[in-house]
Amino acid sequence: MIDWARQIHIKNPAELSIMRQAGRINAAALAAAKELIQPGATTADLNAAAEAVLKSYGCVSPFKGYGYPPFPASTTVSINQELVHGIPSTKRKLKEGDIVSVDCGTIFEGYVADSAFTAGVGEISAEAKKLLEVTEGALKAAIEKMRPGNHTGDVSAAIQKYVEGHGYHVTREYTGHGVGRQMHEGPQVPNYGLPGRGVLLRPGMTIAIEPMVLVGTPKTRVLPDQWAVVSADGSLTAHFEHSVAVTEGEPLILTVL
Ligand code: MG
Ligand code: MG
Repeated sequence: MIDWARQIHIKNPAELSIMRQAGRINAAALAAAKELIQPGATTADLNAAAEAVLKSYGCVSPFKGYGYPPFPASTTVSINQELVHGIPSTKRKLKEGDIVSVDCGTIFEGYVADSAFTAGVGEISAEAKKLLEVTEGALKAAIEKMRPGNHTGDVSAAIQKYVEGHGYHVTREYTGHGVGRQMHEGPQVPNYGLPGRGVLLRPGMTIAIEPMVLVGTPKTRVLPDQWAVVSADGSLTAHFEHSVAVTEGEPLILTVL
């Protein structure tokens, strides 16, 4: 178990600069995976593309070997009702109309970047389009709250309000988190909460904010592979994530090119 409250590390400018570089590499890896998204591509193909980018920078993913059973890949790739943590497989082919989430981590000079996106495969339904827009919109609304003087509860509440305002649901079991020397540090940042509650945000805090959104209900279950998390009712899900630093001024998104 992580003692979230005890593991909040404030990063100095030199550390933030390294984390920004980690974030650029992570963004490049995700872009490489995104380019392959088309009917017939396998989830293993997407993982391989991201992994090749990490390797070209001499980096590895903190996902590989994580947890138990040890996660076997550098990315998680999750289709439709799979919310997060899908294990890439040569047997899972993307189909026209699917939505696919790719989550990638990078360790660069001892610091972690963590980011995810969800995208459509070819033409997708109006409902799927709306789900992607709402989930990404929730991430943007949450990033806006990453300012000194706000609390983690403001970030959480922004996600919940945005998502529920559009008629969808946020997960209760999986959360955003501090990120830095470890993939998971404090503070824990759920996708639901109350403004003004939680941990006071200070410059140098770096947090992976990650709305995980379900169309039907907030309930999830884990598949027998012990990793893939799916919506309990089989409804569509989406996931967007950025690692973001609190600064004296505007929030700094670390995981962009
Ligand atoms: Mg992630
Ligand atoms: Mg994360």
